Amino acid sequence: MMNKWEGIVLRTMPYGETNKIVTILTKEAGKLTAMARGAKKPASRLSSITQVFLYGSFLLRTGKGMGTLEQGEPINSMRHIREDLEATSYSSYIVELIDKLTEDGERSTGIFDLLHDALHAINEGYDPEAISLFVEWKMLRVAGIHPILHQCASCGAVEGEFAFSFQEIGFLCHRCFHTDPYLVRISPSQLKLIRTFANVPITQVGTLNLKKPTKQFMKKIVRQIYDEQVGLRLKSLLFLDQLDRTPNLLPEKEKPAESDD
Ligand SMILES: [Zn+2]
Repeated sequence: MMNKWEGIVLRTMPYGETNKIVTILTKEAGKLTAMARGAKKPASRLSSITQVFLYGSFLLRTGKGMGTLEQGEPINSMRHIREDLEATSYSSYIVELIDKLTEDGERSTGIFDLLHDALHAINEGYDPEAISLFVEWKMLRVAGIHPILHQCASCGAVEGEFAFSFQEIGFLCHRCFHTDPYLVRISPSQLKLIRTFANVPITQVGTLNLKKPTKQFMKKIVRQIYDEQVGLRLKSLLFLDQLDRTPNLLPEKEKPAESDD
């Protein structure tokens, strides 16, 4: 059966002398893997459309076993992501995270839209670190974790001071602080930010220039949840953490004025 599907290339792997095995997250049929015959040859018409991050429309032959990629047309090659080391690094992390947390053939337009919106935003020059945080917070639900962020996870109160509890995976109000000795105190603006990252679609956030300590705080919480609850090992994360420790690995860039609004 032949199908034309919109999708984003998550991963490619060389196969034999001239072929590639390509993993695509499609909008219509979820994640699938297909053989792209001859795609390793630079002159092949499949060569340019089997690049990681590329968003395109793909003509796929499916049946028993692995499908075959017959043709493809790029919709957006995500050129900026490819040309900028920081954008590439964060996008690699986003793609690997989504790849690890999805199963072949499991259809989810929500996950496709999240990946699509995230890569588009990074390609348009939005802060890739902030965008990857959005993806991390939103993918928690896909990983089966539903943080309680609309009320106190213990007593249900919506008023008061709040802290984040890894034990409850959610907020605790000041009346319930005694139930978790390891909670992390948060300010009202940090509480608002966590809710935004977890709930608001990337396309509705607009430009969001976050200070480095704010991003580090948001990252610390979400990464600890992944570490304790999901236990993922992602190759791309090692490089990102190295970038974080030695930011001068990156070429100097014009930085926009930072604010937390
Ligand atoms: Zn409470």
